Amino acid sequence: MIIVMKTEATKDQIEHVIDRIKELGYNPHPIYGEQRTVIGAIGDERGKFRLERLSSVPGVDVVMPILKPYKLVGKELRPTPSVVDVGEHKVGADEFMLVAGPCSVESWEQLISTARAVKKAGAQYLRGGAFKPRTSPYAFQGLEEEGLKLLKEASEETGLKVVTEVITPTDVLLVAKYADVLQVGARNMTNFTLLKDLGKIEKPVMLKRGMAATIQDLLMAAEYIASEGNGNIILCERGIRTFETATRNTLDLSAVPLLKMRTHLPVIVDPTHGTGIRELVGPMCKAAIAAGADGVMVEVHPDPEQALSDGAQSLLPQEFAVLVKELRKYLKLEGKHL
Ligand code: PEP
Ligand code: MN
Repeated sequence: MIIVMKTEATKDQIEHVIDRIKELGYNPHPIYGEQRTVIGAIGDERGKFRLERLSSVPGVDVVMPILKPYKLVGKELRPTPSVVDVGEHKVGADEFMLVAGPCSVESWEQLISTARAVKKAGAQYLRGGAFKPRTSPYAFQGLEEEGLKLLKEASEETGLKVVTEVITPTDVLLVAKYADVLQVGARNMTNFTLLKDLGKIEKPVMLKRGMAATIQDLLMAAEYIASEGNGNIILCERGIRTFETATRNTLDLSAVPLLKMRTHLPVIVDPTHGTGIRELVGPMCKAAIAAGADGVMVEVHPDPEQALSDGAQSLLPQEFAVLVKELRKYLKLEGKHL
């Protein structure tokens, strides 16, 4: 339910309503707007009618139900875009989030040469998998904690923020020690235990859309994280499985404006996994900007032929630099910058 306070409601009245929500067994989520405060009361849907009695409490204007099943990440409770802080960077505002780096962290030389190059080109974030969720158990699984350490070192040298994937709940705290943004991969979007544990930390989470997930599935996955207390969520469209086989996935760019109609969370696009084809990455980055994305994530490798994963879709550092130069023009049109 949403409890909308009157514009003239006092601080004490707001506090009182928050206490009453707790007494009724619900979690209060106050949003202090410029005009007025609204308080989301989130919890068991079955007894929510009990919250209706709050409409007669002093300072309360109206009490109304949240119709969508995703309560905290939807726009009913918070109609304005939320901004996720990653250190000095802000995702969801005018600064475009540019994440670049190899698919997997393979060695210090591979990582640092990529990091230096993408930083020089204009990226603010370094990606690289230390834990790799591979389709085959025989494929390279990642350097694990050693990979996390290399990412941290590369971050300290370049100033880039680290985006890296966490696969299991048991590794959440370990990955959070090294990463600035914890990535949930497409294969884990419905790993609800993982999502809940990510909800218990404060670090930002980048949640990728599952290969067979609907927009609502993605938003419900985000709701799992938010419901545990972590609202620092960035959604990522990375393509879905369709009957088309010419591309690795079908990059659903219409998901970007659609998500923006339904959620206040920032949305970024991964054209690398979305297409699986190097030549398509640039055009899809441009299209993502035009569709209103808050960022893109691009795989870059200094020697794609030798890459231990996803070489065919990775850009060379010099190709990435040329692309970023072009993207700046598109960003300008959208009133955004790197
Ligand atoms: C990745 O970004 O490293 C990755 C594995 O992507 P996805 O989960 O989208 O397949
Ligand atoms: Mn990859």
